[in-house]
Amino acid sequence: MALAAPRPPDAARRSLAGIRRATDGDRSVVSRRVLFARDGYECQYCGLKATPGKALRQLTLDHVKPAHLFPSRAAATTWDNVTTACFPCNNRKGGRLPMQAGMWPRTTPKAPDFVQLRFAGRLTEAQRNYIRDYMRLEDDLAL
Ligand SMILES: [Zn+2]
Repeated sequence: MALAAPRPPDAARRSLAGIRRATDGDRSVVSRRVLFARDGYECQYCGLKATPGKALRQLTLDHVKPAHLFPSRAAATTWDNVTTACFPCNNRKGGRLPMQAGMWPRTTPKAPDFVQLRFAGRLTEAQRNYIRDYMRLEDDLAL
């Protein structure tokens, strides 16, 4: 059959490259979808739990240290400076630092891990399996 199923290894390699970018600390592009998955779809200030499918409508990206204190918005939007906030909390915090607002995120922001990316729905089953095996291999090599 010429119309074969998608070829998992190629797709997974592309996906793995995407994960490398997404987990590459400061240089990675922050996406709200991955951010919300990283934070368990919960407002990190009041604990409001969003429905994953509706998270983009119920939750916002909050800059822990406000973006206006950085030279650019891009410079502020790094994995270790963004957290998940519901609309009311984001409004309440405004452009203030956590200590000014008295609002601290429940978890310390950091780059998302593989599991969180998986829950963000970015991977197919075949891609997940490939990457799991790949990571196991890397673990073996690290010993
Ligand atoms: Zn909230």
